[in-house]
Amino acid sequence: MIDLKGKVAVVFGLANKRSIAWAIAQRLSEAGATLAICYQNERLQRDADELAAELPSAKTFRCDVSLDSDIDAVFSQLAATYGKLDILVHSIGFAPNIKNAVLDTARDDFRVAFDISAYSLIALARGAAPLMTEGGSILTLTYYGSDKVFPNYNIMGPAKAALESTVRYLAAELGSKKIRVNAISAGPIKTLAARGIGDFTKILTAVEERGPLHRNVETVEVGNTALFLASDLASGITGEITFVDCGYNITGL
Ligand code: NAD
Repeated sequence: MIDLKGKVAVVFGLANKRSIAWAIAQRLSEAGATLAICYQNERLQRDADELAAELPSAKTFRCDVSLDSDIDAVFSQLAATYGKLDILVHSIGFAPNIKNAVLDTARDDFRVAFDISAYSLIALARGAAPLMTEGGSILTLTYYGSDKVFPNYNIMGPAKAALESTVRYLAAELGSKKIRVNAISAGPIKTLAARGIGDFTKILTAVEERGPLHRNVETVEVGNTALFLASDLASGITGEITFVDCGYNITGL
C-alpha cells in the first residue's frame, strides 16, 4: 500500500473528468496526498472546482502556463498555502492547427506548440524545485508519436520529443536536490485533447488489433503508474519514459 500522507501534490492540466490529470489526482488523493489542482482559465474553473470537491481538502488554482506572471503567482500561492511541495504533475499539451502537416507548420504554431507542451515543464519545474525541500517527484505525460510517426499527430510529435529530452536534462540537473523527473508515455485515450487529432479512432483500433493486450489503456492505469512514480517505491527511477500503453510500443508489423 502506497502511503502519501503528509505529501503535497500539485496537478496541472485538469479540464474535465476524462482528463488524465483527474485520474492521477484521484489516485494521489486516495493514497493520502493533499491535492492542489490547477486549471487553465475561468472557462474550466467550474469543472475543476466540482471535481476537486470530491477529494478531501483539495484546493484549486488558476494558471495559464503561457504566462510567466500566472506561473509566478501560482507558486507564490502554493508556497503560502502549503509551505512545501512533494509532487508535481504536468499533464498539459496543446498545438494550434495540429491538423496541418509538419511541412506546413507556421512559425508561430510551432512556437506555441513547443511553448505549451514542452517549455512549460521547465517553467513549472523551476517554480516547484525551491518548494521541494525534502526532495520530490516531477511527472509529465507524453506519447509514442514523439518517436514514431502517427497520422495526424503532426507537430505534436516533435513537441513531445522535446518534452522527453527535457525530462532527461531536468532529471540530471535536479538529481542532486533529490528531485526525480519522469514521463509516462500513455496509450491513446479519448480526452478533450485527443479530440483535436484526426481519425483518432483508427489509432485506438490499431492498438486493439495489434497491441499485446488487445485493448486500450484506461486512465486509471495511467493514474496507478503515476502514483508509483510519485512514491518512494520509485526512489531509484529518474529521467525515464515509462510506457503505459498495453504494450503497443513493442509491436512491429
Ligand atoms: P485534456 O484535454 O484533458 O488535458 C490537456 C490539458 O492541457 C487541459 O487541461 C488544458 O486546459 C491544458 N492546457 C492546454 N494549454 C494550457 C495552458 N496554456 N495553460 C494551462 N493548461 C493548459 O487531455 P489529456 O489527454 O488528459 O492530456 C493530458 C496530457 O496527456 C497531454 O500532455 C497529452 O498530450 C498527454 N497524452 C494524452 C494521450 C491521449 O491519448 N489522450 C496520450 C498520451 C499522452
